[in-house]
Amino acid sequence: MLQKGKKLYGIIHQRCPACHEGSIFEEAAYFDIKKMGKNHDACPACGQDYRIEPGFYWGALYIAYGFSVFVSLFIFLLFFLIFGLSLNASFFLLVIADLILAPFLYKLSKTLWLHLFVRYHHPSK
Ligand SMILES: [Zn+2]
Repeated sequence: MLQKGKKLYGIIHQRCPACHEGSIFEEAAYFDIKKMGKNHDACPACGQDYRIEPGFYWGALYIAYGFSVFVSLFIFLLFFLIFGLSLNASFFLLVIADLILAPFLYKLSKTLWLHLFVRYHHPSK
């Protein structure tokens, strides 16, 4: 059961790692390239600074890379081995799936990276 205070709740709902109230991203949009990845400078609810240091989110690229490789392998093996599609068809579907999933993985990796470095503080404490 996911509830506030649990790390997974904040990551899945893309909430501030410190309070699980304020949104990390300015827009909920996934497929608007200009607005998709813009995050607030600080939490709108508690003021937690999201810009921990210059270039902080470069580290999220490592997480995004790992997710992307894992998802690509999974999708390719699913279509090639399980569904028995040809190599070219499996690869084509992999590319399509990667393009569709890229915005989700990008936001997830930024959120996860921020949650790795900021701890949750219960509002009453
Ligand atoms: Zn907050």
